Amino acid sequence: MRILLVEDEASIADVVARGLTQAGYSVEIAATGQAGLEKAETGLYALILLDIMLPGLDGWEVCDRLRARKITTPILMLTARDAVSDRVRGLETGADDYLPKPFDFAELLARIRALLRRDRLHKTRVIQVGDLTVDTSQRQVTRAGQEIPLTPREYSLLEALAGHEGQTLTREVILERVWLDEESCSNTVDAYIHLLRRKIDAEHSVKLLHTVYGVGYRLCVLPALMPKAAP
Ligand code: CA
Repeated sequence: MRILLVEDEASIADVVARGLTQAGYSVEIAATGQAGLEKAETGLYALILLDIMLPGLDGWEVCDRLRARKITTPILMLTARDAVSDRVRGLETGADDYLPKPFDFAELLARIRALLRRDRLHKTRVIQVGDLTVDTSQRQVTRAGQEIPLTPREYSLLEALAGHEGQTLTREVILERVWLDEESCSNTVDAYIHLLRRKIDAEHSVKLLHTVYGVGYRLCVLPALMPKAAP
């Protein structure tokens, strides 16, 4: 499981990353708020550990922008402060939990596990994108009420996209998330996108699966195009 650690103090980032790696997580470090924001938007993380005091964009701002972009990855805020007003502000900004520094590593781990557990329960749910419904507990997909049979691979691909509605997933992220191996290449992703598109979009005028050229794919209802003004 991948965790994004946004922390500018290298010594702290090092210790935390080492501990989390030992606990079986794979950790990526971003040293600024901006870098954290970019990574969080393009990578798929199970959880984000977000320091508040960062150069440039601070943790509040990062959290706020991620939530505004509908990125729902659980966020655990880390801070040197322990004021109640900060805690409240963190939760209001959309953070899921808050841990004051210095913290005990065992407590950090316990909080991470609790958040991941909560997130998993929360994600066992029905995802709705336009008139497309993905029932993740039954692995069942319907569009406009019609059930669409998918192969397990097609389903996993669709679930990955639907779980990040509106967010562009790169081919690399899709490969890592859906194929879980090194053998497959980005052509495989393109081929499966083609199959999926035929099944979910071909018979509908509103397309949900969109190619973001040079980047990857995303699933969403695009806002209606503005009618062109007469010349
Ligand atoms: Ca800091």
